[in-house]
Amino acid sequence: MTFKPLLEEKPANKPIIIAGPCSAETEEQVLTTARALAGKGVDLFRSGIWKPRTRPGAFEGIGTEGLGWLRKVKEEAGLKVTTEVANTQHVFEALKHQIDVLWLGARTTVNPFSVQEVADALKGVDIPVLIKNPINPDFKLWVGAIERIYKAGITRIGVIHRGFSYHGETKYRNVPRWQLAIDLKREFPDLPIICDNSHICGRRDILQTVAQKALDLNFDGYMTEVHPDPDNAWSDAAQQITPAQFLEMKEQLIFRQPTT
Ligand code: PEP
Ligand code: MN
Repeated sequence: MTFKPLLEEKPANKPIIIAGPCSAETEEQVLTTARALAGKGVDLFRSGIWKPRTRPGAFEGIGTEGLGWLRKVKEEAGLKVTTEVANTQHVFEALKHQIDVLWLGARTTVNPFSVQEVADALKGVDIPVLIKNPINPDFKLWVGAIERIYKAGITRIGVIHRGFSYHGETKYRNVPRWQLAIDLKREFPDLPIICDNSHICGRRDILQTVAQKALDLNFDGYMTEVHPDPDNAWSDAAQQITPAQFLEMKEQLIFRQPTT
């Protein structure tokens, strides 16, 4: 497989930085976050429009209306935007609203039927796609999702390590199992690998430590959930941080160029 750079304009000596709320909640929440992150070295503004909640009854995402808010983020804050897609309708809606980058969530990567549906919807489309690891530590499922998306003709691909679910006591929400990410990097040296420290940690106090650990393992960047009022976020409140806290963390993270 031969890949093209995920983000053409990105210099190799800088980490890929993705930030934004877990979910788009209101236009004001989205734009407030985006304005605070504009011009601060963020490569992609993330926001979930359709949310794959583990249990029913939780906030399932604002839906298509939120895509218009992301368009405003592009226009007003000059940030590229990314959102999660899990089926054909999501892909068509996202493309119609000029979303710059799509991502596959952990609950999609785990299901080859869903990955194939998204891949089929992407045939003939040239857009970068980020692929999160499956929720369970199944290396081949992760690789299989990359292959399915690649076979659809997508060559700008990145992978996101968001940890693996675990039953029992652990300090993480999703245990990192770093070796799987290292093995993936070994198998696909040209694919950028991004650490989703928010979903690994599930809490704020260890976000920086986990992101730094990833960068020390030669990860190519990080994705962090940022919200103007984290405690009152409609999803993943315990792990989100304010734009100011995010920018402070970003300043402190050390990115060393790979020595290979
Ligand atoms: C998210 O990024 O908000 C999300 C739902 O992530 P994951 O698919 O990693 O659980
Ligand atoms: Mn989230």
